[in-house]
Amino acid sequence: MIAENLQRLKEKIITRCEASNRNSNDIRLVAVSKYFGFDAIGEANNLGITDFGENKAQELRDKYQLIGDKVRWHFIGTLQKNKVKYVIKAASLIHSVDSIALADEINKYAEKLDKIQDVLLEIKTSAEETKAGLEQEEQISTLASHCNSLSGINLKGLMTMAPFTEDERLIRKSFSELRNLRDKLNQQGFKLTELSMGMTNDFEIAIDEGATMLRIGSAIFGPRDYSKDWRVL
Ligand SMILES: *Cc1c(COP(=O)(O)O)cnc(C)c1O
Repeated sequence: MIAENLQRLKEKIITRCEASNRNSNDIRLVAVSKYFGFDAIGEANNLGITDFGENKAQELRDKYQLIGDKVRWHFIGTLQKNKVKYVIKAASLIHSVDSIALADEINKYAEKLDKIQDVLLEIKTSAEETKAGLEQEEQISTLASHCNSLSGINLKGLMTMAPFTEDERLIRKSFSELRNLRDKLNQQGFKLTELSMGMTNDFEIAIDEGATMLRIGSAIFGPRDYSKDWRVL
C-alpha cells in the first residue's frame, strides 16, 4: 500500500510543481511516520524516502535507537525544554523552535555533542487556538537574531501549520503569510531558505506558495490508529 500511495503522491507533487512553475527537486518530502513502526518506515525507506518526521520526543528517541542514521529524522512536534535531550542526537532538523529558552536549551545540548543543530522557527499563521508558534513579528525577529548568536544552532527557515478548514483561501493565506515573513526577515539580513508547510490535506496549496519541505503522513502510510502504540503496529 505504501508503494502505491507514494507513487500517487509523487505524481501529484510533480503535477502541481509543473502547474505552479516550480522544480520538484527543490522540495523535500518529509514522511511523517508518527504512530507507524519499524516495518512501515523501512518500507518507505526502501522506496527511496530518506526523511522522516516525528512529533513526540520519546517516540523519536526510540525509533532512532532502532533505525539510527540510516534515514534523516525531523522533529516536527511541540518540544518541551526538558525533552530536548531525547531528540538532539537524532534530529537533523528541529522544525518547532518557538522560544528563546528552547533555543538556549537546544544550543546547550548541541554544544555538548559538538553538533550544530539545524532548526526552523514555528510560526502561528492562523487564528486557531490549538496551533502553536510565534505570532508577533518583533518577537520572531528577536528570536531569529538570538538563534544566530548561538554557536550550536543554525537557523534555516520557518515552519507553520495551516488552519484545519475546507476554505482554501484561509489555507493559502496562512502559507503566503509564512513566505512573506521569510522574505521580510531576509530583507533584514537573515538568510532563511526553508519553508516547512503543507500536509496531506493542503500540500498542493503549500507548493503554490513556495514550500521547500512538505510534511506528509497519512497520504503515505494510511490513516493513523491513535489507540495503538507504534511498537505493536
Ligand atoms: C501529523 C503531522 C503532519 C502530517 O499530517 P498528515 O495530515 O498525516 O499528512 C504534519 N505536520 C505535523 C506538525 C504533524 O504533527
